[in-house]
Parts: sequence; C-alpha cells; structure tokens
Amino acid sequence: MTNSSTAEPRHILSLSGGKDSTALAIYMRDKIPNMEYIFCDTGEELPETYDYLDRLEAYLGKPIVRLNPDRPFAHYLDIYRGVLPDSRTRWCTRMLKIKPFEKYVGEDSAISYIAIRADETHRIGYISTKPNLKAVYPFIENDIIKSDVFGILEESGMGIPEYYEWRSRSGCYFCFYQQRREWVGLKERHPDLYDKAKTFEKFDEVTGKSFTWSPKESLVELEQPERMEAIKNSKLRSQQIRQTGLVDILDEEEDADESCLVCHL
Ligand code: SF4
Repeated sequence: MTNSSTAEPRHILSLSGGKDSTALAIYMRDKIPNMEYIFCDTGEELPETYDYLDRLEAYLGKPIVRLNPDRPFAHYLDIYRGVLPDSRTRWCTRMLKIKPFEKYVGEDSAISYIAIRADETHRIGYISTKPNLKAVYPFIENDIIKSDVFGILEESGMGIPEYYEWRSRSGCYFCFYQQRREWVGLKERHPDLYDKAKTFEKFDEVTGKSFTWSPKESLVELEQPERMEAIKNSKLRSQQIRQTGLVDILDEEEDADESCLVCHL
C-alpha cells in the first residue's frame, strides 16, 4: 500500500497484543474508519496473544495485518553470534518488529497511533523514528488513564488478554523483560515454550561466557522446584511489603518500565 507525497497520510495503529494498544484500537475504531491495524509477529508470541488478536479482529470488523520479519529469530541469533538480546541492545525489537513495520509503511507519509496513557507520560520507549512517520498519542491528548483502559476493554466485551493472569506484559514468550515470577508462570502454563526458550541459552566453554535470558541465572537453574518455590514465596513477600507501605528494591528494579513500545503496549 502506498500514497503519493500529496495524498492524505495513512493512519496506522500497531498492536502489541497488550491491553493498551487493544483499547486504543477500540477507542479509534469509529473515529478513523480507514485505520490500518497491524501486528508485528515475531513468530515467538504466546498462544494467548494470537487468540486475543483473532477476537479483536472480529470486534473491529477489519483485518489486522500480520507482519513477519524476513527471517526467524534463530537466524538473527546466529548473526549476533548467540548473544541473546537484552534491554541494552534490543536487537530483537529492531530486526523483528521495527524493520517489518518500517518496510510496511515504506516512504508514505503516515500517522502512527501510540497507546501511551495519560498516567504514564514518563514512559520512555523504543519506536521508529523515520521522518515520514508522525507519532500521535490519543490517550495522552484525551486524558485517558489505566482505569479508563480497563473500562474500554470491559465495555467492548474484549476484556484483558488471558496471559495477564500470570504475566504483566505482552511480547515474546522469552522476552528478557520478564520478571522471574513470570518465567515461573511460563514454565507452569507453557512448559513447551519454556523448554524452547532454554534451547537459546548457551555456555561458551572457550570464553567461559554464559548467554542466558536473565543475567542472574539460567532457565535450567530457575526451573528447579526449590528455586521456583522461592520465587513464588518472594512474590508473596513483596505483596506483603507493599501492603505495609515499604518497597521491595528488587521488585522495583524489575518493574522499571523502559520496555519497547512496539512490543509492550
Ligand atoms: S517482546 Fe521482548 S523479546 Fe520480543 S521483540 Fe520485544 S523486546 Fe524482544
């Protein structure tokens, strides 16, 4: 799809499979009838995400265009010599999400609708900075906060994605932004995907370097029953600490949100 330089800009809303971008799609549905809905599919998403997007597609009454990267994750992992992506490099976002998005937009002038809410304007994200793309923030402009998002989802009948029962954000099942308790959730809900994530971790005997999703421990270490139990108990403990008004430093660090906007809105 293209437009000429004199044509009206395209309107594009990139969905992550998360609650905020879904609520924005619902919110904008009747305001911008020619909105293009897209989903950058890494091929490594959770089954719950695919189900949720199918339901959203039915609700919107329009197709959600699935954009796949030119090559799978494993191909890029080879190129990066087995070095797993992390919050500093984020090569996965660049190669699997942003590049397919930019290829889809091409050189057309386009307005990109971003679902950052009015109660998280501090949020720093990683998005495309192509000059032909103009980012707009309808939730910020209209003072829409988290409780409003829940209201939009509830009222539409979409509700929230099922994975929120055990995970705090959308994205790949192996996302390195995951907290340890979410890895435990993955192990319990999708042991096959947990095992697949394990296969990407490596120990280089020559250099002595480990490539693990979490810098603190490997997935083999994390899945030991006593370790999983300790992680679950630490979640309970931090909930109790929060209730007493204190803050658990570890959890607060893990909650710091500079994650990729294209993956986690
Ligand atoms: S969800 Fe996480 S692992 Fe997947 S592309 Fe985004 S940052 Fe990378």
